Amino acid sequence: MQKFQNFWNGTETNPSPANTFPEAAPSAAVLSGASPAADRGGLPVLSGMSLSELEAALAGFAGTDPYRAKQIFARIARGASSFDEMTDLPRPLRRRLGKTFFLRGSRVSGAMEDRDGTVKLALTLADGAVVETVLLRAPAGKAEGRGRFTACLSSQAGCPLGCVFCKTGSLGFLRNLEASEIVEQFLTLAALVPPGEVSPGQRGISRIVVMGMGEPLLNLSSLRKALEILCDPAGSGFSRRRITISTAGICGGIMELAEKGPETELALSLTSAREELRRRLMPGTAGNSLARIKEALGVFRTRRGRRITLEAVLLGGINTGGKDARAFVNFARGLDAVVNLIPWNPVPGLRFEERALQPPSPKETEEFRLMLEQGGLKVTRRYRRGRGIGGACGQLGGILPNQGDSAAVRAFPSLS
Ligand code: SAH
Ligand code: SF4
Repeated sequence: MQKFQNFWNGTETNPSPANTFPEAAPSAAVLSGASPAADRGGLPVLSGMSLSELEAALAGFAGTDPYRAKQIFARIARGASSFDEMTDLPRPLRRRLGKTFFLRGSRVSGAMEDRDGTVKLALTLADGAVVETVLLRAPAGKAEGRGRFTACLSSQAGCPLGCVFCKTGSLGFLRNLEASEIVEQFLTLAALVPPGEVSPGQRGISRIVVMGMGEPLLNLSSLRKALEILCDPAGSGFSRRRITISTAGICGGIMELAEKGPETELALSLTSAREELRRRLMPGTAGNSLARIKEALGVFRTRRGRRITLEAVLLGGINTGGKDARAFVNFARGLDAVVNLIPWNPVPGLRFEERALQPPSPKETEEFRLMLEQGGLKVTRRYRRGRGIGGACGQLGGILPNQGDSAAVRAFPSLS
């Protein structure tokens, strides 16, 4: 908890005001871990309700026609952030709704845009906890259509798994996010996509990756509900096939996904297929042996028929040797997986045992890739967008740009 306080009261760095998030001092509730519902005075949040829940909530609302729930559900999905914006509802109803419900429970407390077009937002939640969420834009020329936007959503405030290379892991764990807090990340990011950049027939955001702060499979019930809401055709109508959940390897969660869905893509952050090294790099996953993870992935692949991605954060001099590549190829055998290599995005101060972490050299990355390909694997390299604003993989949790990087960054004008 203390780390969260340090993070958000700005004691970690001292960047110039032009490129920092406004400070969001955590409330006492953050430090005591009180529930967000209590901080909203017990009022329910509509953004986290499925259509049927919304219908039930409004049913007891005297004078409300049943079709209103559908109307309100659709308006929330289209980005309404206050009842006053719902001008198709009678004014007295809007006023009564406003006294009974919150439309959303979070607010944008900071925004930064990278030179590469990536935008990182800080959202302050009802209890004062802060999470980050990122809108990535496909590199020019690589987009299908004019603009291809990906929303990178967080599932927890902090993370309990403590991977040594990850900023979020270094913060410790605060709490699971509620469904509404996950849905609202998407809605807030969707509002940033300029209408002129959406090709005909495309929605503003074309992919969701649950790769932000936290381990999604440790908060699967809220995540499932949030995705159900986002995929409901009466609302945002997002396609499950355009969603990827990334896990550090929680076997119970992978099995539950295999049994019950949702029908999304799955990425495993393997990083090392050498059991002992993996345990040292990702200590929180130690209860999930590689053999059990592989077995769970096999079940997922068979039941869901969805392709699996194996991700590896490449750490200079640590997990990029011949032994590492051989173990990786061995693990991947039979999974029909695609491999995604992510050169480590720097996080100041992180160490692996007695050594400072460093990114792999381009030669090291290339050699590792070649060894995997020679082992028969299909390898892609994740594009590393948002590094100028600490918005790339593993950097979420308050990395602020250095003064020297300020040319890469600007405060996001429409929000800050
Ligand atoms: N907890 C989940 C999802 C969030 S982390 C998971 O671990 O999969 C999202 C991705 O960022 C993971 O693949 C993780 O291995 C990677 N990552 C973490 N720290 C990183 C860093 N500093 N540089 C590059 N990738 C990192
Ligand atoms: Fe948690 Fe994923 Fe970061 Fe590991 S890499 S600490 S699992 S967010």
